[in-house]
Amino acid sequence: LLTRDHGAEDKVMVSIRIRPSTSPIAWDISEAQSKTLKLFPQYAKSTMSSPPQFNFDEILTGSENKPVYNAVARSHVCAAMDGYNAIVFAYGQTASGKTFTLSGNEEQPGIIPRAMKDVFAFIRRTPTREYLLRCSYLEIYNETIHDLLAPPSSTTSHIVEIHGSGSNVWLSPLREEVVTSLKGVKEVLERGNANRRTATTDWNERSSRSHSVFRLVIESRERADAMSSSGRCTPGPPRPPTPGGPRLQALGGKSVQTSVLSLIDLAGSEKATSDKERTKEGKYINQSLLTLGTVIGTLADNAAKHKTDYVPFRNSKLTRMLQPSLSGNARISVICTINPDTNAVSESTNTLLFAQRIK
Ligand code: ADP
Ligand code: MG
Repeated sequence: LLTRDHGAEDKVMVSIRIRPSTSPIAWDISEAQSKTLKLFPQYAKSTMSSPPQFNFDEILTGSENKPVYNAVARSHVCAAMDGYNAIVFAYGQTASGKTFTLSGNEEQPGIIPRAMKDVFAFIRRTPTREYLLRCSYLEIYNETIHDLLAPPSSTTSHIVEIHGSGSNVWLSPLREEVVTSLKGVKEVLERGNANRRTATTDWNERSSRSHSVFRLVIESRERADAMSSSGRCTPGPPRPPTPGGPRLQALGGKSVQTSVLSLIDLAGSEKATSDKERTKEGKYINQSLLTLGTVIGTLADNAAKHKTDYVPFRNSKLTRMLQPSLSGNARISVICTINPDTNAVSESTNTLLFAQRIK
């Protein structure tokens, strides 16, 4: 259940998840508890200090998805229920565990099903408020946004455009499904995944080259007959109102609180390998992941040092689309997934450098 304090201090939480290995590993993860990861010196790049060492908010190992959810996503889901925009990203090389972490499987449900379970549990425990949940499911491929919930037969109507600017950005045309149960969410996700597969000739290629974005819009208001208005998910005293959240609109005399929870399985972070990728697609992916790093890094730095440095949201569709969810009081969690095998050390090092850059 949602009980953990989501600690308002850090805007961006950056964690590492190291998947189990069946071959020799390049990393000393025995000190996982200390939140420091050590690369064995023989694998270090010549430009690195010795011994190469990285610090993160959490270092997670093993195949259990529950502790991962509890450590790096639950408080963000909780913040979203309290009216703050929240985003959880999975970043990493293909096959490092992004989809396992976010979606999981029957035995080990990932962050998306666990988040939705907690959302419905919280709503049941909060009879003083009424809620409306709408979800959408998108894919960004080659800087084009596709609505995964659009009927697969239509060739162009699934393309989504970004409108507006700044914190007043919206997507259209976009299908948003009202959901009232975990089963309903599961059906929406399955439909989206099926559409994604049928639209694709090379599923593996495309899924590793595109970002997939699951969005939940949470609207709530106090019930007309409510006696009290506790209804907060996060324990402790309420946070002071600050620009960016929670957003309140007067609607029929009652104020409606709106927030967005975005759960994002990013494109594979690996360097382009084929000629095709090196030209068009690789460029787009690297550009949008590069922009994401710059945007999150600048936001974290601005928040920590009370600065207002320019944030290049408009340099990619992903960051432009997410601008309202990234700005203001939004809570961000980035889970960087790592393959610890020696043959992946170069890409894993790049992932750690990305993680370090946004911290
Ligand atoms: P990605 O989405 O980053 O390309 P996947 O999540 O598809 O990678 O993971 C690749 C394979 O490794 C899958 O078969 C997945 O089940 C498995 N896997 C990934 N992470 C873990 C983990 N922490 N524990 C057990 N199996 C994992
Ligand atoms: Mg995947």
